[in-house]
Amino acid sequence: MKSPIGILFYDNEGKLIAANQSAKDIAGIPESEDVSVNLFNNPDVVSRKEKLISEGVIKFQSRMNFENMRKGGYYNPARSGTAYLDFTVSVVDSGYLVQIQDITKHKNAENKLKESESYYRTIFDSTGTAFTILEEDTTISLANTEAEKIWGYSKGEMEGKKKWTEFVVDNEDVKRMMEYHRLRRENADAVPRKYEFIGIDKQGNVKNIIATISMIPGTKKSIASLLDITKLKRAEEELQKAHKNLELKVQKRTKQFNESNEALRNEIEERKQVEEALIKSKSFLDKIINSIADPVFVKDEQHRWIILNDAYCKLMGYSREELLGKSDYDFFPSHEADVFWEKDEEVLKNGVENVNEEEFTDSEDNVHTLVTKKTLYSDISGKKYIVASIKDITELKQVEDELRQNERKLKLAMDMAKLAYWEYDVSSDLFTFDDRFYKLYGTTADQEGGLQMSPEEYARKFIPPEESYMVKEEIARALETDDPDFFEQVEHTILRTDGEKRFIIVRYGIIKNAEGRTIKTYGANQDITELKMAEKELRESELKYRTLFNSSPDSTILIGINGNLMDVNSAAQEVTGLSKEDLIGKNFTELNLLLDEEMSLHIEKVSQVLTGKSLKPYESRFIDRNGKVRYAETYLKALKKDDEIFAFNVIAHDITERKKAEEKLKEIIDELERSNYELQQFAYITSHDLQEPLRTIASFTQLLERRYKNKLDDDADEFIDYIVEASIRMKQMILDLLEYSRLTRVEKRCQPLKIEDMLLDIFDNLNFLIRENNAQITYGALPIVFADEGQLFRVFQNLIENAIKFKKENEDPKIHISAYFDQKNKEHVFSVSDNGIGIEDQYFNRIFSLFQRLHTKEEYEGTGIGLSISKRIIESHGGRMWVESEYGAGSTFYFTLMDKP
Ligand code: ADP
Repeated sequence: MKSPIGILFYDNEGKLIAANQSAKDIAGIPESEDVSVNLFNNPDVVSRKEKLISEGVIKFQSRMNFENMRKGGYYNPARSGTAYLDFTVSVVDSGYLVQIQDITKHKNAENKLKESESYYRTIFDSTGTAFTILEEDTTISLANTEAEKIWGYSKGEMEGKKKWTEFVVDNEDVKRMMEYHRLRRENADAVPRKYEFIGIDKQGNVKNIIATISMIPGTKKSIASLLDITKLKRAEEELQKAHKNLELKVQKRTKQFNESNEALRNEIEERKQVEEALIKSKSFLDKIINSIADPVFVKDEQHRWIILNDAYCKLMGYSREELLGKSDYDFFPSHEADVFWEKDEEVLKNGVENVNEEEFTDSEDNVHTLVTKKTLYSDISGKKYIVASIKDITELKQVEDELRQNERKLKLAMDMAKLAYWEYDVSSDLFTFDDRFYKLYGTTADQEGGLQMSPEEYARKFIPPEESYMVKEEIARALETDDPDFFEQVEHTILRTDGEKRFIIVRYGIIKNAEGRTIKTYGANQDITELKMAEKELRESELKYRTLFNSSPDSTILIGINGNLMDVNSAAQEVTGLSKEDLIGKNFTELNLLLDEEMSLHIEKVSQVLTGKSLKPYESRFIDRNGKVRYAETYLKALKKDDEIFAFNVIAHDITERKKAEEKLKEIIDELERSNYELQQFAYITSHDLQEPLRTIASFTQLLERRYKNKLDDDADEFIDYIVEASIRMKQMILDLLEYSRLTRVEKRCQPLKIEDMLLDIFDNLNFLIRENNAQITYGALPIVFADEGQLFRVFQNLIENAIKFKKENEDPKIHISAYFDQKNKEHVFSVSDNGIGIEDQYFNRIFSLFQRLHTKEEYEGTGIGLSISKRIIESHGGRMWVESEYGAGSTFYFTLMDKP
């Protein structure tokens, strides 16, 4: 099974944006940490950067030391030790896509292999037998030390340079050997052969050699072991000469026997070798088949597995023993087995190989996606076999899915960032855009007649005339630069096809050719209109608040959480006589602007604000530039950043003048109250004292009337009448006055009063008056109020009496009493309305003054004190009284009473 592929996505600056889980696992990137991994921290990438830019992709293997990652401070890797990674870095639209694969195991295996290879080479070299390995054309590809001894050539002189045939003297020998090679290639059953032949070494010495040549299974190579029998041969020859005659005789006699004996020996020998070769070749084949990483199997015509490699067993999740001789239906759900069977049949019947993507359920019920290639193999006897090799693409599929998803995400991200890409080719002087690009400009490739456009056309169509020079300038800069890493950004306005103006930022770079000429520029445009607007708004709003701050007549100070002043406005500088430099950075406790005795008050307020309370303004004092104490209404507010208090805003509204005025006012009010009291005292005393002489006048004029009526002349009688009448009237007025002034002397006793009950008592009281005048009195819903019973009784009775008294001559009085609650002012509003004679506007105020009347006592009797008393009562209850009236049509008297005491 292949190790998973890690995918990482970096932005144009090489900053890591995203990585899949495999990449994190491979590179040991910890999940929790905020990793700052830059692609260009990797020296292997940096050294290939030019290639990356010119070819768009680089591939390399890199050894990664996780210890160094930790030490280098890049991140705290979840892995340790070192690993070999296979890197593929490709340039994509918005940055770099990096695929990594952990090949440590593979590398380690390779190293092990190298080790074992050298191990075998040593054995090969130190063995007592001479060996050479031959290519198809008998070129020596490998020779050992013994072979050097035989041929007198060094390995270096032989390997890859000498052909076997160059050593062989007799052409017939060469032919035989080549024939064997051919045979072996065509027929798997051909067996190793032994040849005796005469060869010639470097020095020209003749050598008698016995060579055993066997094919290396599965290759076109052969291996030849050599035995130098030259010396033996010489001895033999000598012996042969000496015993020639005898030999001849013996030979003759035993020729038959020898021949048959030799044949038998050869046959035994050959059989043995065949057997050995077969065993070797089978285990070699097994090794080869098992070392194939992809699953492989062979099935017979009955669809039974007859050969399987380890990878296939592993994929299936069963052992070889369990599988051999079985078929698909023994292991797979029938819907899967049906497909496999059908594909087998196709191959068996048509002999045509097929390649299929298939679903496959393993022993643990995991579903894999496989690509299976099935081929027909027929052996010499005509038996048919299905040979299949499989690629498990499950992970590849997943990676593909992930890639596709990432691509989608990337697209989305680009859409969200409103990024539009372009390329400019210098030689053709054309921009190439894509649909996303056109979208930014409110158009499409169809409308613009394709994806390419010259810079002039682009500027004319999409840039306001006053900025169109910028396009030319951008290109000129890219062409002129010597810097291969040239990367710039410019901001300008664009005109969309719908006429809307938007702001963009263009970031662009260049590609240079080998001669250092710019051949391409490429870039991304981003819509930053909202950003710009927000920036502008922010700037304006900052300016607004700064102006407000500075032009505020109230001293405004920003104090940091440590008590140091951070900012002060002009008013604060003016009032303290200290400049910004004097104030900013100083601690408010060391500035001596506050009164020592109030320090604890300020600290108390600050600690309240710190607990999250919002404070009402509080009064405090401070010392101004002249050392004078001034009063301030102090507003203390906490300023927060990210939900944390970082400063306090203190606004000191100078109320020194108001304070002075208030004090003055208080003095005046005190004075007024005193004089008022004195006045009331005076009115009471005078009216009280006046009663005595008045009583004397009244009683003596009455005496005068009784005694001298009709005894003096008519005039005298009339004069006496006037005096009597006036003194009675005066007495009444003095009583009224007494009552009026008593109102303020006597304390009110307020209690809850049910107005309806009170009215019923009043109607009783006025029973005679009501009936005499045939008055109709109605009333609406009436509340319970909190007031002095006697006084409020007086008010209602007064108003009702007046309403009856000031009736029209020819109309019976109709009176209505009602009340409603005024939510806004939280007070009851009472009204008493009548259909009487009414009052002219100009008298609306006058009628409430003491002894003010609109009629003579002959027309309507009374002293003109009723309304004054009523008004005074209502006002002493905290209410107001007024009249609305239409002269000749009736009047309505209103008064208010507080809801609560
Ligand atoms: P008096 O009733 O003794 O004259 P008041 O103080 O009660 O004194 O009233 C003052 C004046 O207000 C009255 O003389 C009258 O001219 C006017 N007045 C009071 N109530 C009414 C009313 N309901 N309709 C018309 N005029 C009124």
